[in-house]
Amino acid sequence: MCHSVRFISLGPGDPDLITIKALRVLQQADIIFYPSTISKSGRAVSRALDILNQLEISAGKLYPFAVPMNKNRSLAIESYNNISANIEEKYKNGQETAVVAEGDAGFYSSIHYIYDYLAERKIPVEHIAGIPAFIACGALAGIHTVKQEEELIVIPGTATGEALSEYLQSGKTIIVMKVSQCQDTIKLIIRQQPRHTYHYFENAGVAGTEYYTSNQNDILNRSIPYFSLMIIKP
Ligand code: SAH
Repeated sequence: MCHSVRFISLGPGDPDLITIKALRVLQQADIIFYPSTISKSGRAVSRALDILNQLEISAGKLYPFAVPMNKNRSLAIESYNNISANIEEKYKNGQETAVVAEGDAGFYSSIHYIYDYLAERKIPVEHIAGIPAFIACGALAGIHTVKQEEELIVIPGTATGEALSEYLQSGKTIIVMKVSQCQDTIKLIIRQQPRHTYHYFENAGVAGTEYYTSNQNDILNRSIPYFSLMIIKP
């Protein structure tokens, strides 16, 4: 009898930042579904696959699924339903089945669609916790992300200038995920309010492309990739 379908957190990029529990499950799984996207140049790219390869998980059991980038919600949902039905079938055939996500699998992770689909159909599911990117970024910068009575706000790329100003005014530390989606807003705030500290990260934990700066000019001149994150301290 199979366990549940496991939703495994891979950590933010450094293969050493996976948990021992997650690694064990990956090694024992019969089939592992991982998210992959098609880049503008038509190449399949997957941060999850990069991590799995470095952990030496055998390639024969790895199975990519396309992450729907479609703005049309019903098409995206249809595509998740197809992946989920495929995973359900593998589980029912008795295979130890895992689905992976970078960072923590329950923190702004699109695989929650699959998790919800299976849970609704009474398939047992289990989420194995992992290190989210913002925790790794705080460590990389050597900062105490929040201390004592400080409060933390997390914004997923939908930040407005008004909201950011208000949080900073009230002394809150802000994590901005998906900075590329709100880069104009962020850059404007840096210009208008240079007194705050802006910690900026790309590809934390990824050898060769990791980048960190708190220099405001460097941030303003930077073109911002998808795997970027900011910690703003008032
Ligand atoms: N589940 C992930 C978040 C996925 S959403 C987690 O727990 O962290 C994708 C966003 O996460 C990216 O746009 C970026 O803001 C952030 N991110 C993920 N990995 C990152 C990394 N290695 N370095 C910097 N930001 C990262």
